[in-house]
Amino acid sequence: MLHTVAAFDRLGEENAFAVLARATSLASQGRDIINLGIGQPDFRTPDHIVEAAIKALRDGHHGYTPATGLLACREAVARRTLTTTGIEVSPDTVMILPGGKPTMFAAIIMFGEPGSEILYPDPGFPIYRSMIEFTGATPVPVPVREANGFAFSAEETLSLITPKTRLLILNSPANPTGGVTPRAEIEALVKGLERFPDVAIMSDEIYDVMTYDREIATSLLQFPEIRDRLIVLNGWSKTWAMTGWRMGWSIWPIGAAGANLYDKVRKLAVNCWSCVNAPSQLAGIAAIDGPQDDVAKMMRAFDNRRKIVVEGLNTLPGVSCIEPKGAFYAFPNISGTGRKAKPLANTLLDEVGVALIGGPDFGTLGEGYIRLSYANSEENILRAIERIEAYLSR
Ligand code: PLP
Repeated sequence: MLHTVAAFDRLGEENAFAVLARATSLASQGRDIINLGIGQPDFRTPDHIVEAAIKALRDGHHGYTPATGLLACREAVARRTLTTTGIEVSPDTVMILPGGKPTMFAAIIMFGEPGSEILYPDPGFPIYRSMIEFTGATPVPVPVREANGFAFSAEETLSLITPKTRLLILNSPANPTGGVTPRAEIEALVKGLERFPDVAIMSDEIYDVMTYDREIATSLLQFPEIRDRLIVLNGWSKTWAMTGWRMGWSIWPIGAAGANLYDKVRKLAVNCWSCVNAPSQLAGIAAIDGPQDDVAKMMRAFDNRRKIVVEGLNTLPGVSCIEPKGAFYAFPNISGTGRKAKPLANTLLDEVGVALIGGPDFGTLGEGYIRLSYANSEENILRAIERIEAYLSR
């Protein structure tokens, strides 16, 4: 990494936050804004989780916790991993961090340096590229194509690996497309990766259980042959509607080939954020071990909205939208409107009060698309579609 102030000039942004600020400011001026911009569930954190945090504060859990996270919280993550993936992980490989992003940060600064290459999905979560550029490494986009159902292609991914490649970033179910990469494709990728034993993998599985139509997301943890170079990012933000709590976890390789990455991220925590506060971790345990009814209810609501949003978008002139299989985003193709995505997104916010994000904010291959987060009521989604239709038919 280049330790210069100039490196900070290479950091990018997450435009969803800028759009949220602008939408909030317009709303405070009395404008009726429908926000389909930000990627966070519009549900409250379930009550039993909130109560666990309040109890922790009342019980006096006010001090530092271990840098890697409370053992009880790491054990809860291990239990949850076994339930969702069928794979046993040791709590001693689980790291609790303040959100999903710090895992991205840690993994990318570990492998990024001038002269190295890091592969990342395009369109994809914007912070991957931003952080890669920060380190001085070369970002190499892996195309995520609509024609492929917004799954990544094993063949194309493998073809982009060079002797300089240090890290491959994967994300399924994906932001911003809602794509879920089929198991067969992931198997082919893992097989191909045998030829590149020096390439580490960071699999962002933060939307792991947020899938529809009985689709099951494949975890990279299910492939023991890459475990010694695999980092799995996950967290509480999306599944339990806990974005503001800043609670994430990740699973790291230990000891293998002299690369104890777990110990490296522990040291980074000690140097950077020390630990995650105890009340949030105790709430995190309650989230994992408690009833999952609220999660199921939220997913049913997202599923209904998904159908409404896709149907609505496909009635718009020049717009087509494939069905997202996971997360809570629709990524319609707007190339038939003859408009550029970012100016269209800006105009829709300014003129008709609908906040959404232009595809190019997720990478160069995002041109021709916009992202709608359907974390809003069915009524508001329908109103937003009506407004977009009225605008496009002008
Ligand atoms: N990874 C992906 C794919 C995301 O979409 C997000 C949030 O939008 C994150 C990670 C970051 O999660 P957190 O808010 O827990 O840092």
